[in-house]
Amino acid sequence: MNSSALFGTYARSELAFVKGEGCWLETADGRRFLDFAAGIAVNSLGHAHPHLVTVLQEQAAKLWHVSNLYTVPGQERLGRRLIEATFADRVFFTNSGAEAMEACIKTARRYQYANGSPERYGIITFEGAFHGRTLATIAAGGQAKYLEGFGPKAPGFTQVPFGDLDALKAAIDETTAAILIEPIQGEGGIRPVPHDFLRALRTLCDTHGLLLIFDEVQTGVGRTGKFFAHEWSGITPDLMGIAKGIGGGFPMGACLATEEASACMVPGTHGTTFGGNPLAMAVGNAVLDVVLADGFIDGVARKGLSLKQKIASVIDTHPHVFETVRGEGLMLGLKCRVPVSEVVLAGRAQGLLSVPAGDNVVRFLPPLTISEEDMDEAVSRLDAAAAAVEGAIAKETSA
Ligand SMILES: *Cc1c(COP(=O)(O)O)cnc(C)c1O
Repeated sequence: MNSSALFGTYARSELAFVKGEGCWLETADGRRFLDFAAGIAVNSLGHAHPHLVTVLQEQAAKLWHVSNLYTVPGQERLGRRLIEATFADRVFFTNSGAEAMEACIKTARRYQYANGSPERYGIITFEGAFHGRTLATIAAGGQAKYLEGFGPKAPGFTQVPFGDLDALKAAIDETTAAILIEPIQGEGGIRPVPHDFLRALRTLCDTHGLLLIFDEVQTGVGRTGKFFAHEWSGITPDLMGIAKGIGGGFPMGACLATEEASACMVPGTHGTTFGGNPLAMAVGNAVLDVVLADGFIDGVARKGLSLKQKIASVIDTHPHVFETVRGEGLMLGLKCRVPVSEVVLAGRAQGLLSVPAGDNVVRFLPPLTISEEDMDEAVSRLDAAAAAVEGAIAKETSA
């Protein structure tokens, strides 16, 4: 047993950062790391963004929290801006991604209940999905490793194989309420869902009276080069969970819904003490000041293409380490031929931070504000990391 005061839930690195600026993180002893993890797609504007710092400090001197007993003007403003920029008509604010997904799930079930079909509470999801770590969202994700030892899997969630339309059709029955999907699986290994598959889901939901729920907790708020990733497919959901990037590092999330889907959520049906507090709303609004400014999201798409090309050339140089690069915008996954943990560690040794994912993929999720120079620097560090991995392989085979 080590002497930590904390739960042993995380297999943490010993790296401890004390300072951040833009795309860079610094340890107490002055080592600098290029941050292509961005707090797992959270630090959308990098670290210590001047606008976020100013807004947070100003709000901190005024008002932090009042609860949802009262009108919170920041909620009205951020909600209005979100609905003006998306399919949605209504917003419910939460503190995290899992809570945003819980709000989506509860709203979908309540919608069917309020429309005379209380027996319809089933949610169909996809293998490899990740929707959070609450009891309902681990059931939604359906991954054995997250469910084991936590009692019976919460009822009402069925997983079908990724991209399997026939299995999906077969899974729909008179108890189905909704279909829930990430437009690009994040944790599952940056697996993009084909656009025509998303369009087929919309049609199926319309045909069977189901709600379509998108989990854009990781893909949202400009990450893929659109405000939300589903915009690439041309269709819209009825409900959508967001979090991560909207707070830029401040914990917050939201459930976005059409008028029709949200009409059932009347006073008393749902709530949160902290969700949407003035401090969070100030930061969320400040993030949107930057992300929704003219040209910002197009810039993310452009940078994403450029980074993807640069990574592809690293794959060409190291075909025994890497296989392919996939993803959209600044949400890229590099499929590895060696264990992904080795690549992440070799990257860290070169001062490059990344995130492992399923399917033996390393995730690159840099701040959306990244410069071309920092992308070049990251790619050269990735190249050095790959060379180090190759060196280790060569040593093993000669030994
Ligand atoms: C991170 C994530 C969640 C959970 O968010 P938390 O804030 O950790 O609760 C849900 N869905 C997706 C797609 C995520 O990436």
